[in-house]
Amino acid sequence: MLNRRRALTTPDQLIEANLVSESKARELKAVSARYAVAITPALIDLIDPADPDDPIARQFVPSIKELTTTPEETSDPIGDERHSPVRGIVHRYSDRALLKLTHVCPVYCRFCFRREMVGSPNGPGLSKSDLDAALNYIENRPEIWEVILTGGDPLILSPHKLREVTQRLDAIEHVKIIRWHTRMPIAKPEAINEQLVAAIASTEKTTYLVLHANHPRELTSEVRAACAELLKAGIIVLSQSVLLKGVNNNIDTLIALMRALVESGVKPYYLHHADLAPGTSHFRTTIAEGQKLMRELHARVSGLCLPSYVLDIPGGYAKANLELCDADLQGGELQEGTQSYLVRDGADALHPYPGSKISAPV
Ligand code: SF4
Repeated sequence: MLNRRRALTTPDQLIEANLVSESKARELKAVSARYAVAITPALIDLIDPADPDDPIARQFVPSIKELTTTPEETSDPIGDERHSPVRGIVHRYSDRALLKLTHVCPVYCRFCFRREMVGSPNGPGLSKSDLDAALNYIENRPEIWEVILTGGDPLILSPHKLREVTQRLDAIEHVKIIRWHTRMPIAKPEAINEQLVAAIASTEKTTYLVLHANHPRELTSEVRAACAELLKAGIIVLSQSVLLKGVNNNIDTLIALMRALVESGVKPYYLHHADLAPGTSHFRTTIAEGQKLMRELHARVSGLCLPSYVLDIPGGYAKANLELCDADLQGGELQEGTQSYLVRDGADALHPYPGSKISAPV
């Protein structure tokens, strides 16, 4: 008998919960053997099993399409490895470092850009000695002004562990900003309680939390209450969303999402162009489609509701602002006929973006 209060993690459980048909069991076992699966009760409750195109199900229920890897997709699409001097640290920009505390998430998004790194069998994440080495790395680099706690989802760790990390970062004089990246307030809003919030709210630094949200239905009353808890503790809450075909690639959904975030006290920060992670081509839009949606968004919503539309340039070359790229593309940098763009990084260098004019079917 299915326990409705636990996450679903196997194809058999998905079948029992009526989220996939029995005929798909065999193919989904092949998918789940390759990429981790987890859907929490909060998100199961949001899925309409009668809707074959449900935008919440599409984000979390595995699909046979994930076994198709296109030539441009890679296991490390944004080049984390290349910028990882010690385990757990990604130091891509001089003044910021990522600290990846864990490989575990409460849910596994089917489009995740770190899908080859998260979930079992990669283990629970940083050991004590790895964490010590990572914090030493930060301590020894005075240029690191901001530390971004990510993963996996760091908020899946115990409040005790989170408090320890916050306190150790508090003790590093040159770190001024602590930023948590998480899906937890949406995947498990009941976990955002006083104890957890106190564990991540620094008493010495400015604390930011960036919430990953992709569809307006994710902003339930429980999620809004979780955001209120975070804001009450003085944490500044931003959002990041991924532009996903069949989930939010239409203007009315994007408007509703951005407004729901702002109403919850959350400032939209990034709208990411979907990365070239393996088995995710069915989620990717074209850059041109994303730019058109952003133009419509600019025309119809308050500035408070406007995120920046960005691409992590494959290979670890930082972010390109795709709205600014529009002028570049008109300047002749769109490689007509080659089905690729050139995108500009922060240092003004141009990089090819393969396949971005190709839009795979939903
Ligand atoms: S919560 Fe974040 S890290 Fe985890 S699977 Fe989703 S996108 Fe990936």
